[in-house]
Amino acid sequence: MHMQGHAIVIGASISGLLAARALADHFERVTLLERDAIPPAGENRKGVPQGHHAHGLLAQGRISMEQLLPGLTTELEAAGAARGDLADDARWHLAGDFHCRFKSGIKGLLVSRPLLEATVRRRVLALPNVTLQPEVDVTGLTASPDSKHVTGVRLRRLCGDGEQALAADLVVDASGRGSRLPGWLSALGYAPPQEERVDIGLSYTTRVYRRAPEHAGGARAIVLAASRESRRTGALLFMEGERWILTVGGYRGDPPGAGEAALLDFARSLPAPQFAEVASQAEPLTHPKTFRYPANVRRRYERLARFPQGLLAIGDAIASFNPVYGQGMTVAALEAQALAAELACGKEGLARRFFRRAAKLVDVPWTIAVGNDARLLDIREYNGFANRLINGYLDRLHRAARTDAVLSLAFHRVANLMASPASLFAPAIVARVLLGNLLPRRFRAASPLAMTTR
Ligand SMILES: Cc1cc2nc3c(=O)[nH]c(=O)nc-3n(C[C@H](O)[C@H](O)[C@H](O)COP(=O)(O)OP(=O)(O)OC[C@H]3O[C@@H](n4cnc5c(N)ncnc54)[C@H](O)[C@@H]3O)c2cc1C
Repeated sequence: MHMQGHAIVIGASISGLLAARALADHFERVTLLERDAIPPAGENRKGVPQGHHAHGLLAQGRISMEQLLPGLTTELEAAGAARGDLADDARWHLAGDFHCRFKSGIKGLLVSRPLLEATVRRRVLALPNVTLQPEVDVTGLTASPDSKHVTGVRLRRLCGDGEQALAADLVVDASGRGSRLPGWLSALGYAPPQEERVDIGLSYTTRVYRRAPEHAGGARAIVLAASRESRRTGALLFMEGERWILTVGGYRGDPPGAGEAALLDFARSLPAPQFAEVASQAEPLTHPKTFRYPANVRRRYERLARFPQGLLAIGDAIASFNPVYGQGMTVAALEAQALAAELACGKEGLARRFFRRAAKLVDVPWTIAVGNDARLLDIREYNGFANRLINGYLDRLHRAARTDAVLSLAFHRVANLMASPASLFAPAIVARVLLGNLLPRRFRAASPLAMTTR
């Protein structure tokens, strides 16, 4: 392959690193510019404050990262991560009760966010043409006199010596949901992208504990989704080093609180007893940490009529989703694969082709997150008749999935971005949902619909 030119990536978190992996096959040099100092493997850092909170990697995310970096899963397992069956090792409390337990054949990976990022970083930096410059704050773009081409970035090194310019043939903004790209575009005379914002006011509190094998009935993950009955949510996930990460969350005016006692009270209020069990019995390894996630945000770069050449955005800089759905890193990996595919078709018109493709990738997770949030919080603008109908159907699907493994599997495939949401409306699935809601539970458990129950 003919490799020419220099690509700069702003931000060396998950989407920046995976973008660098894609760019490395098409550019002679790829430079990652990261504001943070890089900590030892497995430690959190300031620019990724979400790293302190539960991070699950969806099955599609693991598959996509593995395709970009073959052998990544095995490497993470060797470092203590756990590969497990999504419906056998993990338990899902959705719409008021647990789905049944069965072997789905879908393998997820339980690993802390800092270890995942450090391992991806090590693999990407092992590529001979990729380098990372830490403690560099990118402050703006440089462009040709007519502003039609972005020619590089302006930056400040944290060790001093003022603002500098660094030239590049392509600049990729992977600086996350706080991206300043809309303002930088305006400074060059371009319209900023239209921004969709869906306020949810989610608050998280998280603590890490030592895990004992008997906790949570031997499960490695418990996920509790908020429902119309309780707008409280939680995730209890295995992490390397035989630890639990316990995150609990509440929407709009119902924060779990910051202290130990508040966290325990909140855990006790949840309809899945495993949260209170671990919070009250396991040995804590950290102090509780809080996080506020105000809104789902989507920037519609694909709708802009004018956009300079030599510039892209990726990951949370394009769209950031309510974290309870665990989609962000998977979307970052899918976008990196889309970038690789578009680069393989040439660099001409790259931004237009990439943004169009990324928008299609974002549509499904955005619809899942916003559709469910809108129903849960009754956000009028997004909770029209169709949304209420779909979510009413999904409630019934979850109810039937308490004993029907086929329905549970169909749901997990969609939630893991492995199948289209339309697959949940296939006639065979609709029939099972109807039947599952008509038969009383004690008959359902004994019927052929029930493959295995908990
Ligand atoms: C509380 C929480 C929980 C989450 N849980 C999950 C989960 O379970 N599963 C999942 O898949 N996703 C989850 N996500 C989303 C996930 O963290 C992100 O989607 C993922 O990190 C990819 O984001 P990114 O790389 O685009 O941006 P970020 O991770 O935000 O990284 C941006 C990077 O850019 C750097 N940077 C910013 N500005 C500059 C600048 N001017 N110059 C140089 N560097 C800069 C920052 O230091 C940082 O390293 C969660 C998010 C939150 C907030």
